[in-house]
Amino acid sequence: MTTAQPARPSHAKRQKVSFIEPCADFNGYNLVRLPLLGHLYLGAILKRNGHDVRCYSENLRRVYHHRRGITEKRILESDAVGISIMTPTANRGYAIADAVRKANPKVRIIIGGSHATALPDEALRHADAVVTGEGESKILEAVNSDTKGIIRGERVQNLDDLPIVDLKLLQGFRPKLLRLTPIATSRGCPFDCSFCSVTQMFGRRYRFRSNELVLEELERRTKAGFTNFFFYDDNFAADKTRTKKLLEGMLRRNIHIYWACQARVDIARDDELLDLMRRTGCVTVALGVESVNPRTLVDYNKKQSVTDVVNCIVKLKAHEIRALCMFVMGSDSDTSLTVRETVRFLKRWKPRYAQFSILFPIPGTRFYDRMLREKRIWTRNWSLYDGSHVVTYPKNFTPIQLLDQVRWIWKQFYSMPWLTGYSVFRYFLWKWERINKKYLLYLPTVKTPKRLTQADALVAASERSA
Ligand code: SF4
Repeated sequence: MTTAQPARPSHAKRQKVSFIEPCADFNGYNLVRLPLLGHLYLGAILKRNGHDVRCYSENLRRVYHHRRGITEKRILESDAVGISIMTPTANRGYAIADAVRKANPKVRIIIGGSHATALPDEALRHADAVVTGEGESKILEAVNSDTKGIIRGERVQNLDDLPIVDLKLLQGFRPKLLRLTPIATSRGCPFDCSFCSVTQMFGRRYRFRSNELVLEELERRTKAGFTNFFFYDDNFAADKTRTKKLLEGMLRRNIHIYWACQARVDIARDDELLDLMRRTGCVTVALGVESVNPRTLVDYNKKQSVTDVVNCIVKLKAHEIRALCMFVMGSDSDTSLTVRETVRFLKRWKPRYAQFSILFPIPGTRFYDRMLREKRIWTRNWSLYDGSHVVTYPKNFTPIQLLDQVRWIWKQFYSMPWLTGYSVFRYFLWKWERINKKYLLYLPTVKTPKRLTQADALVAASERSA
């Protein structure tokens, strides 16, 4: 692994810096136009230190065209360009970096984000410097100096040290453009699900901003006319006492908003919390349901049961909060029976929304390491690592079977009589199929290697004889 070369003494010259959050070819964020916060925090820190900063979220405005190159002149005139990549946006991030370098070799290119943290050497092939982990502690060094190589970011111990994000840094930003305003109150997650990259990036210790500061940010935004918020926390109620105090603060200060968040199903164990959520304007909770197959929940190390999930959907309904159930299909314990049981579960418990991802190995996770070890990854085209493509050899399906089964669940769910989102779903499906014509032609030719099916047969035989 390459490490950072000694830095030249930093020069405090005011620099022109552009941050770019590349978009994936296809994901739900394109539709809801929800920018991530990472590059906005970095931009706010640099601005506070006197630099001239612009941020570009490709979920709002594209900055790169594969034939025309970089379409924003300001980016090519920058002293430094920072690109934040996750796995599905990595290829596009690299293409942007290469295009900037080709058009103006003097621009210093810095890459960060969860994918660069997991595979820094790969990212370094397209950048002068790669910042791993949380970049806030190192962004000034990365921009002010000529340090080349990998710069290791340190976790921000006190999140109150971070500035309040300035949404005006976002180019092309208009308040009406954002249907949801992003806000974050915490980082880290004490759980350790095998497929999730949150803990490698933010750690298992739950850190949070003081409620006082979060309330101040909410007040500032509501005064500016924002009313709909999305809490980006990976687990909004990891510390229920603290979350309840935050919500009580919203009531005390008359902060009237509508909001959505992500949480584990264990929020349903606290009626007082659910009551406060409803009274403060919570509309939707995205629940990490993952599966209705108990063996899959164990495979994922999810530490929850199907009964917990049912209890949560029922309780949320009773509190008039919509549940968005997020499933991850295709574990080694999933079969076509799991798929049918999932549909039965949805028909019975009727959550308001559901989302079905295909299990994919995110670099840096335990699941990725296992898939590598077992040689079960058939493509390293990162653009396909977005939960809507099969990129591994599943155990109980061929790749095309798994894709078809997941598409079948989507169709089954969004044609259920109590739902109204079928036309939106049809649009999604049409768009996805249009973008993925080649993939759809190729996938049926991807056959599970014999060594895997033979190994399965051996395991099945030994289980039978046991
Ligand atoms: S999936 Fe959710 S609960 Fe599990 S580790 Fe990730 S953030 Fe935590």
